[in-house]
Amino acid sequence: MNRYNFAAGPAMLAPSVKQALASMIIDWRGTGLSITEIPHRSELFKQFLDELRAKVRHLLGVDDRYEVLFLMGGARLLFALIAEQFLKNKGVYAVTGYWSDLAARTAQRYGLVEKIEMVGNPQTALPHNLQGDYLFVCSNETIGGVQCTQWPQTDLPLVVDASSDIFSRRFDMRGVGLLMAGAQKNAGIAGVSLVVVRKDWLAEAKIAEPLLSFREHARANNLLVTPPALALGALDATLSWIEASGGVEYFEKLNEEKAALIYKSIDESQGFYQNTIDVSARSKMNVVFSLQDEALTQAFLQGAEQRGLLNLKGHRVTGAIRASIYNAMPLEGVEALCAWMADFQKQNH
Ligand code: PMP
Repeated sequence: MNRYNFAAGPAMLAPSVKQALASMIIDWRGTGLSITEIPHRSELFKQFLDELRAKVRHLLGVDDRYEVLFLMGGARLLFALIAEQFLKNKGVYAVTGYWSDLAARTAQRYGLVEKIEMVGNPQTALPHNLQGDYLFVCSNETIGGVQCTQWPQTDLPLVVDASSDIFSRRFDMRGVGLLMAGAQKNAGIAGVSLVVVRKDWLAEAKIAEPLLSFREHARANNLLVTPPALALGALDATLSWIEASGGVEYFEKLNEEKAALIYKSIDESQGFYQNTIDVSARSKMNVVFSLQDEALTQAFLQGAEQRGLLNLKGHRVTGAIRASIYNAMPLEGVEALCAWMADFQKQNH
């Protein structure tokens, strides 16, 4: 039986990425050593980091006006570090769900924060003459299943949390001052976070404790501390697999197709399955839905598991069901889920 992991993160890895991870643990690039054993100041490792930065820039469509950093501590830590280093007068936060709200609440410890409530509709127009150091946007709310297809119109530098949809679609990087993402959904495994920041904006960042400072990490070529080699290896393998599959454009189309299948199953179920998000804001990464008869949720999840459809349980905040269908989820996994949705409805209508 095929098994498909619909977890929101840590998430499913492509089979070839798992293979690459296994082999890099045994013998990395013909060195006879594991990637975890390679001296991080060796030429080979420095070259690896340079190539990895180039891959990130290529897939995001940015040039070397952007610094690429690989940091530890998780995406939540970045919420704090961004506010600490870029909030001078006021940080503006577009609140579209749990993660942007958490980012705003975290930033409040560092200074003045203006929250703009956009829950349910990330395309809401912003107030005129918005003042601030930056506008924070979460490109995909992993819990709520809300995706921001176009950035809100603003002259402020954008700070984007792309933890759950980086490399899943093309981003408009014009206007982006900083883009951040944890790796464990669409970019490999937990242990590393990506920060892509415009160098001229970085130059204006506030001074911080060196180990927490984006500028100091950049200055040290990301070698301020021993880097998380295995997580970087997983990122590298994932990016190579994305490139070999046809790039971000390929996944953008595939992800649209996958998401459309599940939303169609929901919309054609005559209310048996429900998704209350505005159609234009429905996430192509995390499809959140509930059953009209909530009491059936457990049976739905149990039956799904018996069919190899794993980790569909919704987040503890929302309950219900969440199908996370990042790049690594093949079309067949989504088709198997839709077949189960149809069967379950027939059994229970
Ligand atoms: N931002 C988003 C959009 C997320 O989905 C998550 C994790 N689910 C985080 C931030 C927090 O990530 P971490 O656990 O690495 O702090």
